[in-house]
Amino acid sequence: MRIARYARNGEVSFGVVEGPGADPSDLVVAALEGHPFAPFSFTGERFPMTDVRLLAPVLPSKVVCIGKNYADHAAEMGGAAPEAPVVFLKPSTSVIGPADPIQLPRNSERVDHEAELGVVIGRLCREVPREKALDVVLGYTCGNDVTARDHQKADGQWTRGKGHDSFCPIGPWVETDLNPADLRVQCFVDGEVRQDGSTKDLIHDVPAVIEWITAFMTLLPGDVILTGTPAGVGPLVAGNAVTVLVDGIGPLTNPVVSR
Ligand code: MG
Repeated sequence: MRIARYARNGEVSFGVVEGPGADPSDLVVAALEGHPFAPFSFTGERFPMTDVRLLAPVLPSKVVCIGKNYADHAAEMGGAAPEAPVVFLKPSTSVIGPADPIQLPRNSERVDHEAELGVVIGRLCREVPREKALDVVLGYTCGNDVTARDHQKADGQWTRGKGHDSFCPIGPWVETDLNPADLRVQCFVDGEVRQDGSTKDLIHDVPAVIEWITAFMTLLPGDVILTGTPAGVGPLVAGNAVTVLVDGIGPLTNPVVSR
């Protein structure tokens, strides 16, 4: 099931996306009563996808990210992957939805794309063992851990480099029926492939990451975990369109503009 959040005539709702593939002209959104984190019903209203605007599929209280979780990406950043997961946060204000512009900061010379599998948490949870980790997952989405690489390097910690407004595109919806163990993760810039990996190469897989994070932090419904990016990160410039595609989800495309 594909759960989307959308705006139509000034009203914001959740809905279930119906139809084959990802071409908006083939898709319909069935409106939900309430929100998708509890048993829900349908209002009975159904709209063509072309009549709604998709928004970020959830409003996370926080986006928890794992750094250097693919060996090939750790190598391209100039080192080995650390033994324990590297955890950092992106603020809720960095989250944008499908087709929203990624805004390049005026004072950064280098902004990179990072295509990632996003895990959307379905319920409040703490100290979740890996055997039960997938029980707290609502579903999966595409994420782009956009990074001002010069700010990240200059600061020595990552809050500014990773936390600019618009640096966390997620969407286009949450796919609830997926096994995260072996999903192709791709990034395209203006249609040209830049990253092409698989979650089977995650050093710390989705259950391990949930166990690690919830050992010290409560996760709330709608929180998002970005699981790390495979090799091939590279610069974005104004005028680009960047697309993240994960097996069975997406595409998530965002234009790149100067702020
Ligand atoms: Mg990343």
